[in-house]
Amino acid sequence: MKILIGKRIKVYGVVQGVGFRPFVYRLAKKYELKGWVLNTSSSVEIEVEGERESIESFISDIQTNFPPIARIERIEIEDSPLNNYEGFSIRESKEDLGYQLISPDIAVCKDCLKELFDPKDRRYRYPFINCTNCGPRFTIIKDIPYDRKNTTMAKFKMCDECEREYNDPLDRRFHAQPNACPACGPKLWVEGIESEDPIKETARLLREGFIIAIKGLGGFHLACDATNSKTVKLLRERKRRGYKPFAVMMKDLDTIKRYCYVSLEEEKLLNSPQSPIVLLKIRSLEDLSKEVAPNNNYLGVMLPYTPVHHILLREADIPLVMTSGNLSEEPICQDNEEALDRLKGVADYFLLNDRDIYSRYDDSVVFVLEDKSQMIRRARGYAPSPIKIPFRVRQTLACGGELKNTFCLTKDNYAFISQHIGDLENIETLEHFINTIELYKRLFRVEPEVIACDMHPDYLSTRYALQLEGTLPVVRVQHHYAHIVSCMAENNIIEPVIGVAFDGSGYGLDGSIWGGEVFIADYDNFVRKSHLEYLPMPGGELAIRKPYRLAIGYLYSIFGEVPNLPFIDKIPEEEIKIIKEQIEKRINTPLTSSMGRLFDAVSSLLNICSETTYEGQPAVELEMAIKDIEFDKYYNLKIEEDNDIFIIKVKRLFEEILDDIDKLPNSYISAKFHNTIARIIVNTSLLIREEIKINTVVLSGGCFQNRVLLKKSIELLKREGFKVYIHSNVPCNDGGISLGQAIVGGRAGS
Ligand code: ZN
Ligand code: ZN
Ligand code: FE
Repeated sequence: MKILIGKRIKVYGVVQGVGFRPFVYRLAKKYELKGWVLNTSSSVEIEVEGERESIESFISDIQTNFPPIARIERIEIEDSPLNNYEGFSIRESKEDLGYQLISPDIAVCKDCLKELFDPKDRRYRYPFINCTNCGPRFTIIKDIPYDRKNTTMAKFKMCDECEREYNDPLDRRFHAQPNACPACGPKLWVEGIESEDPIKETARLLREGFIIAIKGLGGFHLACDATNSKTVKLLRERKRRGYKPFAVMMKDLDTIKRYCYVSLEEEKLLNSPQSPIVLLKIRSLEDLSKEVAPNNNYLGVMLPYTPVHHILLREADIPLVMTSGNLSEEPICQDNEEALDRLKGVADYFLLNDRDIYSRYDDSVVFVLEDKSQMIRRARGYAPSPIKIPFRVRQTLACGGELKNTFCLTKDNYAFISQHIGDLENIETLEHFINTIELYKRLFRVEPEVIACDMHPDYLSTRYALQLEGTLPVVRVQHHYAHIVSCMAENNIIEPVIGVAFDGSGYGLDGSIWGGEVFIADYDNFVRKSHLEYLPMPGGELAIRKPYRLAIGYLYSIFGEVPNLPFIDKIPEEEIKIIKEQIEKRINTPLTSSMGRLFDAVSSLLNICSETTYEGQPAVELEMAIKDIEFDKYYNLKIEEDNDIFIIKVKRLFEEILDDIDKLPNSYISAKFHNTIARIIVNTSLLIREEIKINTVVLSGGCFQNRVLLKKSIELLKREGFKVYIHSNVPCNDGGISLGQAIVGGRAGS
């Protein structure tokens, strides 16, 4: 006689809107189990009855064969009494007090692609094809539960055929909330042009050299022919974008390989459901315009990830510049009206559609270093998936930094880092920041008990936090400490660490601008153990835009004079005089220990970059100057102990660089400089290890977007037996500090 048992199973994670219930339904049929499955606000709940062995196989299949974009965080299993169910059914959703994880938007899947280009399919060339395994999610959701009525698809009433798919548990589109077809779904058009085939029309316009604003998943792209220098240049002018590289979309992997080197790991990323922009080493630009990525050895490339892209790239058959549809600094455009208004004068034509975007969502940017991906900008495909942190903290809202802002909300042991919000320097971005905070609070049912922010009084994110002071406690977290904690949390480190934060600018505890810091740190405290010596920034912010001011300032304050070097030639005599005076009299000349500024100064000194048109440009171009040379030489930097702090002195460094300027090409000097900074990390870490016996080193801060520095630092540290941790899922730049703030804030006082 068969012995039947009953089990109640709860599955937590990204398990809704991803085809989970039909998957469970099919499994139950396969193992001849009776019972039901349903969605609750927090999980997928299952009750099954059957033979022990079948139930065990059923559960193991759930854990291993779940649908491609689902993500299982936790499974709870308990015995349940037998109810003698007749069959297996999918039951009505149930609301409870919980919350659940929400899937990011996902690139169009293989099955949908096949249908998209199958002339016999009813969705042949339909630009909004999707299924439970792919398509928009986060960008269309207004509230949970994730049902069509809570998305921007609510206004489209499904036709009979779509409705049938939607209600059939065995169909790939069962409960696919954005389900649509040409008969009932969203439509495309080119604004102002009557056309049977708007995508074909767009392709034609692109080939003719026009700039087109294209509505995508999370906002608008500005697209143009990447092989047409005249157009790319025009786009730079209209968008007011100096030298910052543009991303390029190419139709397939073979095309990408013509221009770039692609490793296995990079290939995987390009093809992944997240489909980010991957920074690839350029093989040869061939017919691509040099204007796409000036002075860079890397190209940001992505594959088509929406049905519109797939059709468009086939039609156009040229690599397309695809850059966010905004003016520099402003957030990406979201609505048709907004785009028509704000991008008037930038785009020549607009490819629009009537599916509304609820949340702005930029393309994510990553690079690969030794098989590990490094997030530069975390948005599409990744947010709002949380980072799991090693412990629970109070529900916290961390407001992040100023540039590359993200915020972070914590709940249980999850940290929900927002998608990249942008540079918080204008009203539009601030509004985007505030609206997105409200959205995350709603979606994940977070009610912050504490607010965390940077110490910089002028950051708009800090000001936003301080407005809430009085209602909620506000914890100010030092910028570089936040960087270190974010890297610790991402790596689940629980022991104290040597935290190396090499960064641009961040407000220091003493009111100076920090950025070349080495701490000993845990989650509750830090001690500044080493830093770059303080050097002047004549003109303050102006010195960041004009790094020659740093070069002159550093030389003048170290040597008392400025040697006559080629980089001086372009600078008016008068300005040099003013800079010297600013330093002597301490007028508008803050002091900084920033490592990023040291890179800027050296870049300018070598006459590589003397005007910054995007954040980090002098350092990027200094790194790029190395090309591919191998050069195992070092400069000398002295470390002096002062009051228990190791101060890194740069006088010898500058003496030796000046000595090399006539003898070595810039590529060699730059390589030597990068080696030196890596060695400084090792030498200070050795001194600290000697004293405090900590062997774990954490590397964070914007400087570690520099591959040469990152690679060399890891190599040298490992050679000395250090355990080294770097970022991967969370940016090492200021996009990552909200995570560190959230953890420090969430632990403080609790
Ligand atoms: Zn699909
Ligand atoms: Zn339909
Ligand atoms: Fe920073």
